[in-house]
Formats: sequence, structure tokens, C-alpha cells
Amino acid sequence: MFVDVVNIIVRSGNGGNGCVSFRREKYIAAGGPDGGDGGRGGSVIIVADENKTTLMDFRYKKKYIAQKGEDGMGTKKSGKYGEDLIIHVPIGTIVRDSENNRILADLSEHDSSFIAVPGGRGGWGNMHFATSTRQVPNFAKAGQLGSERELVLELKLIADVGLIGFPNVGKSTLLSVISDAKPKIANYHFTTIVPNLGMVKFDDSAMVVADIPGIIEGAHTGTGLGIDFLRHIERTRLLFHVVDVAGTEGRDPIQDFEKTNAELKAFSAALAAKPQLVVANKIDVSDALLDEFTAEITKRGFEVFPISAAANKGISRLVGRAFEMLKTLPIPKFEIEEDITSISK
Ligand code: GDP
Ligand code: MG
Repeated sequence: MFVDVVNIIVRSGNGGNGCVSFRREKYIAAGGPDGGDGGRGGSVIIVADENKTTLMDFRYKKKYIAQKGEDGMGTKKSGKYGEDLIIHVPIGTIVRDSENNRILADLSEHDSSFIAVPGGRGGWGNMHFATSTRQVPNFAKAGQLGSERELVLELKLIADVGLIGFPNVGKSTLLSVISDAKPKIANYHFTTIVPNLGMVKFDDSAMVVADIPGIIEGAHTGTGLGIDFLRHIERTRLLFHVVDVAGTEGRDPIQDFEKTNAELKAFSAALAAKPQLVVANKIDVSDALLDEFTAEITKRGFEVFPISAAANKGISRLVGRAFEMLKTLPIPKFEIEEDITSISK
């Protein structure tokens, strides 16, 4: 199962208490204070790991608690530090504060990490509190308490190319032709329930293509399979905008193109601004509308690639152009928002 949003609760360890103790040795009369410090509590740290592909583990285990620090001891011995708890997530996970939905971290590279809750500091032992006027400090500091918060982990796929377009225009077919993915292909709407990812190889480079379910009018308002799926293409660098140029379902390809773009724009300006290669599919059925379509779309500043996914025509030109463009297109990052929550104790 592909799980891409989960809530978890993280709690850091309490710091250990400082110790009150005095040196007691033979021949040393009133020894000075020698109470050691408490150890720091463990932090909960979230780390991106290239071996993880979904957030599924977090459906079953929700609470993550780091170890507490040990108390200080006599003879100036510090308590042991609590161990940090490391949570491994897939690359591309963003971390939000569930209280206000702000983005706290964008773990977009292997090994990038975020301290979700810092461990409590250990309290000072009484060895620190002797002064010339206070030679017998019979107190020490308590360890700082750990903290707890609820987080939302959200996986934003790292795909290079996103496939967009109306249902049934041939997105899944195209993905199956260019990549090693085996998406469901069928002649009814919304066969793509979760985004399918395919790896496309070309010479010695590779790109990841994500098949996104059909965008229909109103998807951004939550009708049909809306916003959940649009989310997945936020991280892509390039879009293949697939259109059924044969009009096999009786719609006008130019109108389809405009509607999908309007839908994208309504969801996110950033999405709408991504570069698109326009894929005029199903030319094996009919190319009667192709010339007009190409002229109109080219006028709007897009490159058009006439193909037949089913008959494997025109594909290599499209894929070649995509690889060329990806060489210079940057990987989008999410902006980190200020962490304003006062972490609960
Ligand atoms: P999606 O909803 O955009 O993913 O569309 P699918 O890939 O599932 O294809 C929908 C239907 O169109 C299926 O019956 C495909 O076999 C058919 N189809 C896809 N590409 C072509 C094509 O190039 N030519 C023809 N004739 N049919 C196609
Ligand atoms: Mg599909």
C-alpha cells in the first residue's frame, strides 16, 4: 500500500536530575560538594533515508519516545545521556506541525535530518553551586523535562516528470510504454488510484515519471479525485500534458488542454508555472484535428509532440526532449515556515 500522509506523536527524553553529594573520604574532613550533572535526554530526530519508499510503518506505530537522561551521581559523575530516537522516512518527506500545519522541514536529500523535539537538558549537580560564601550547597538542579508534539509527515514524491491530463487520454499507457512501470490501463475514468511511478532510462541517465489520475474541472475544490492527487505533482520538474487529439470521447482537444491548465492554476500557481511538453496522443485513431491543435498550442508557446502511445509512435522524440530539459531544470524545494508552536511540556 502506498501511504503518503500520517500523524505521529514524538516525545523527547527528560534530562536527568543533578545530584547533591559531598566528598566523604578518610582523612578529608568536610569534603566539598561533588554531585554530578544529570545526562541530557534523548532527542527525536527525523532522517531521510533512500531505502524507505512509503510512510506505511507509521500507520501502525504512532508514538515515538526517546530515552531519558540518567541522574547525576556523587564523585562528580555525570548521568548517562538518553539515546536519541531516529525516525527514518522516505526522501521527499515534509514535516508539518499538526497544530498549525506549518512546514517545519523538507527532507529532500538522503541523510537530511530534522530535530523534531530536543531532549531535555540535564540539571546541574551541586558541585557547580559552591561559592566562597556558600560552601555547603545542599541543592542541585532538576533535569529539564522533555517535550511532546504531534507532527504530520507528508510524502511529496520526487518525480522528475508528472503526467497530467483528462481521464482516458492515455497517460498510463504512455507510462507503460516509456518505463518499467506496469500501471493499470483501462477504458474507464480514474483507473489510476495511487500515483504510479516509472523509471525511464535513456543512454546513461534515468528519470522518474509519475502517473497522476485525471484532472477534471473542479478537482481543486475536492470533487472527483482532487487535491490528494494534485499534491503529488508539486515536486516534479516537468509536466507531460497528455491530450487525446483524436477526440475519441467527443471532447475538443484544445478545450481539454485549457481546462486542465485552468484546474492546475486554481490549485497552485507554482504548479501552473511548471514547464509542459504537450503530448498529442492517439494519432493512430485520427489526426484530423492535429494540425489545428498544434498550431493553436504552439501559438501559446508550448512544444507539441504528436504520438501514439498504443502504437509506440513518436515516443523517443518526446523522451529525448524531456531528458534534455531536465538537465537544466532545478528540483523544487518547499519553503520552511517559522516554527511558532511553544512545544508542550
Ligand atoms: P489514462 O486514464 O489517461 O491513464 O488513460 P489510459 O492509459 O488508461 O488509456 C485509456 C484508453 O485509451 C485505454 O483503452 C487505452 O488502451 C487507450 N489508449 C491509450 N493510448 C492510446 C493510443 O495511442 N491509441 C489508441 N488507439 N488508444 C489508446
Ligand atoms: Mg491512468
